[in-house]
Amino acid sequence: MSGVNEIRSAFLDYFAKNGHEVVASSPLVPRNDPTLMFTNAGMVQFKNVFTGAEKRPYSTAATAQKCVRAGGKHNDLDNVGYTARHHTFFEMLGNFSFGDYFKERAIELAWGLITKEFDLPKDKLLVTVYHDDDEAANLWKKIAGFSDSKIIRIPTSDNFWQMGDTGPCGPCSEIFIDQGDKLWGGPPGSPEEDGDRFLEFWNLVFMQYEQIEPGNRIGLPKPSIDTGMGLERISAIMQGVTSNYDTDLFRTLIEAVAHATGMAPEGERKASHRVIADHLRTSCFLVADGVLPSNEGRGYVLRRIMRRAMRHAQLLGARDPLMYRLVPVLVREMGQAYPELIRAEALITETLKLEETRFRKTLERGLSILDEESRGLGKGQNLSGETAFTLYDTYGFPLDLTQDALKPRGIGVDTDAFNAAMQRQREMARAAWSGSGEAATETVWFSVKERTGATEFLGYDTESAEGIVL
Ligand code: ATP
Ligand code: MG
Ligand code: MG
Ligand code: MG
Repeated sequence: MSGVNEIRSAFLDYFAKNGHEVVASSPLVPRNDPTLMFTNAGMVQFKNVFTGAEKRPYSTAATAQKCVRAGGKHNDLDNVGYTARHHTFFEMLGNFSFGDYFKERAIELAWGLITKEFDLPKDKLLVTVYHDDDEAANLWKKIAGFSDSKIIRIPTSDNFWQMGDTGPCGPCSEIFIDQGDKLWGGPPGSPEEDGDRFLEFWNLVFMQYEQIEPGNRIGLPKPSIDTGMGLERISAIMQGVTSNYDTDLFRTLIEAVAHATGMAPEGERKASHRVIADHLRTSCFLVADGVLPSNEGRGYVLRRIMRRAMRHAQLLGARDPLMYRLVPVLVREMGQAYPELIRAEALITETLKLEETRFRKTLERGLSILDEESRGLGKGQNLSGETAFTLYDTYGFPLDLTQDALKPRGIGVDTDAFNAAMQRQREMARAAWSGSGEAATETVWFSVKERTGATEFLGYDTESAEGIVL
């Protein structure tokens, strides 16, 4: 059985053997891209190469890219711990063609890797194509010998890939595996597609357009290829398990959590072990790439992730800072592939320890308030927005931490009232300021704050503001 580290290497070796330049992962904070909060796909570092604005000395490439999906167009934060296939941090394996090969070669290379090198069972595989993409459908018939029933035409945005609201984009074709009828779920496009039975693991994007602004799409100079395969998902498939959390890497991390807390990953507690293992990776990789916990922007996403993990550590009975003690295990598992983890180990450890030590002081008190205030509530009911705001304002509970805590009981939060309380507080702050006699300066300060408000309150406007940093 191949471990995660070998599978990553096997992917890169295969594409190197087929003429691709192996390029290092870019940082999680995208360079020169204020529209994107975190790198969320392999193509991000090549965005300007696709549009022709930047030239590279190669026309095909392969990467294992660090990705975070905890905000913006692709946000998986609320899935983590509850689905078998989503992480906030994951590695995307990808091959790219910048005006070199297009659909046919991309499908040939993908099919060759998964059926010859990785030896996946052909009869369990199926694909989707964008509904009007006859060319891709015919290529799958020719190359994989698929019948029409294995080529599912999808008319929705699921098969039209976009990094964000602007940037290179195009129709895509995704590869799924049927993991058997012991698991609930239906094929893509069916009402049960969110089940675990049919697992999407590789997306081949046929890059043809650039979205300049909403409603305005132009052709790319040359049709190109961008693919993304989740390393954790292909590893689960190759290791014969149906959850990413049962792969060798995650098992090691989860065992470390169990060892540190004395709590075995069983029953309802399992979700906590998973969340901690997932959020540990995200926190460590973000700090290694220069993000520090703060009250706004990227730093606030990091803080939210760290604090969520800490609440789960508390659920497992941890009474002292825990996360920082898990850093060495992660560095041991992933430091060879990502030496930045080794270089930043001391900084990561200190950052986690400090944030945990500070938050511990209010976590327990806040949790008991949450407990009291939600005691009488049942499934489908909401915690009052005022309580959620007090928890936020006085106890440092990000809104999503409160939501995450109530989720298992089917209880929500009155977010309108929460936002109203937030707004009232801002107005009170403004009123207090205007009494200070420095009107001119204050007006400027408040208007700046208001314009950039989206940055500070990333967590609350879950639809639109999250991905945009500026
Ligand atoms: P899903 O439908 O499962 O949420 P997606 O369609 O959003 O996945 P893509 O944007 O197509 O994912 O990304 C390409 C590949 O990256 C996916 O096929 C999957 O293997 C992997 N991937 C995407 N999101 C995650 C995640 N949150 N955690 C782990 N792997 C992921
Ligand atoms: Mg998704
Ligand atoms: Mg999908
Ligand atoms: Mg997809």
